[in-house]
Amino acid sequence: MKPKSQEYDCIVIGGGPSGSTTAALVAAAGFRTLLLERDIEPRRKVGESLMPETYWVFERLGVLNALKHGPFVQKVGVQFVSSSGRESAPFLFTQHDPRECGRTWHVERAKFDQFLLDNAESKGVEVHRGARVLEVVFEGDRAIGVRLAPDGAPAPDGEVASATGERGDVIRARVVVDATGQTGLLGARFKLRQPNPKFRKAAIWGHFRGSRRDVIDGGVMTVCLRTLSNRSWFWHIPLSNDVVSIGVVSDADYFFRPGGGTPDEVFATEVADCPAMAQRLEGAERIAGLDVVKEYSYATSRSSGDGWVLVGDSWGFIDPIYSSGVWFALKSGQLAADAIIEGLRNGDTSGAQLGKWVADFARGTTWVRKLAEAWYCGQFRVGKFIREYPQHVGPMTDILIGRIFHPDAGRLFDDLDPWLERMKAEGVTS
Ligand SMILES: Cc1cc2nc3c(=O)[nH]c(=O)nc-3n(C[C@H](O)[C@H](O)[C@H](O)COP(=O)(O)OP(=O)(O)OC[C@H]3O[C@@H](n4cnc5c(N)ncnc54)[C@H](O)[C@@H]3O)c2cc1C
Repeated sequence: MKPKSQEYDCIVIGGGPSGSTTAALVAAAGFRTLLLERDIEPRRKVGESLMPETYWVFERLGVLNALKHGPFVQKVGVQFVSSSGRESAPFLFTQHDPRECGRTWHVERAKFDQFLLDNAESKGVEVHRGARVLEVVFEGDRAIGVRLAPDGAPAPDGEVASATGERGDVIRARVVVDATGQTGLLGARFKLRQPNPKFRKAAIWGHFRGSRRDVIDGGVMTVCLRTLSNRSWFWHIPLSNDVVSIGVVSDADYFFRPGGGTPDEVFATEVADCPAMAQRLEGAERIAGLDVVKEYSYATSRSSGDGWVLVGDSWGFIDPIYSSGVWFALKSGQLAADAIIEGLRNGDTSGAQLGKWVADFARGTTWVRKLAEAWYCGQFRVGKFIREYPQHVGPMTDILIGRIFHPDAGRLFDDLDPWLERMKAEGVTS
């Protein structure tokens, strides 16, 4: 694999949703853009339930029509099931916002990521798969390009590539975008990651065929179900062709405790502890092995520097309970692209310019993090809270939709925070 040139305006490392979005928009603005993805083939990944606000980035990318007529099933809402098996009323997005943007999709990530990568290519991005970046190359404090692995072979997950000692070609660029997801090439290099100790989680997940699914208004819902012990929760994400993605999330220390069993055994134990999930799985068959993902949440202490910027999971990650990751990947990709385009046009690729979007973006993501903390605090019964405060169906749905980048987005917490304190005092558990 050899890039066509030794020099670009922008190099994007990583071909997930954040990288494809950034690259597509920068190339569409007329800048020479190279995207390097280490995986030779698209692969199965978590992150299959989208938030409706992704609509606006899809519109900007010019892919809405293709998505509407594509292979993905429509997601119309979210539902929560408490540890006692009680179902919350569904949060149906179109009841909140009847416009077309009130619906979204459940996506098989291998297909979805390739779809966005193809779109980037159609916008003029030079895309290479099987292209592993070893390191971002610096002159002084300024990023000036990337060093590619000589053989282009994919590295195992989590490897800090530059530590391998391999030498490869340097490709130069005015801006380097780190969209390497949880690998976080620059985050590792500069020790930028700040793990959130409240969320040291792991997930065991797989695809099943024939699991019960409820079709509402021509679409399906993401369902989040707590186990009886309340030690873990399941996601249930119906996909196309009668396949459902099912995963269980808990503290990594609990799943992988000594004597806890293999991932298959842990999964079975947790299903047995969740009658509502066991019912959904009756008669279903697993169609591939189970995967394990650690999903420690983290922020980064710095988001950009001269000639470089972080996007998507590389920038930060919040627990997946509300399915926010792909939305944050797309949104940060779009905001970073706008800053890059402006910077390239004005000859200013300083860290301040490339990261000028971050403060507002981070503020919006706070509301999802706070709601995730509420989910895990032990007292949050979504249905009970909404029955007591029906006026918060709207603000809560706004967060579940991803409509969080506006000044009022956090008003739910004016009542939720004291309510959780009250539940704690009353000994109520979720
Ligand atoms: C258990 C779990 C469940 C989740 N569920 C959901 C959900 O339901 N909905 C949702 O929206 N989000 C969910 N997420 C989050 C979601 O998966 C991520 O937020 C999203 O994939 C981030 O996109 P990204 O483009 O930043 O990174 P990624 O999708 O991880 O893409 C990064 C890419 O960079 C490539 N790369 C890495 N290193 C290199 C290198 N050195 N050189 C070249 N390429 C490299 C990788 O191969 C990869 O393709 C979940 C996450 C977890 C852990």
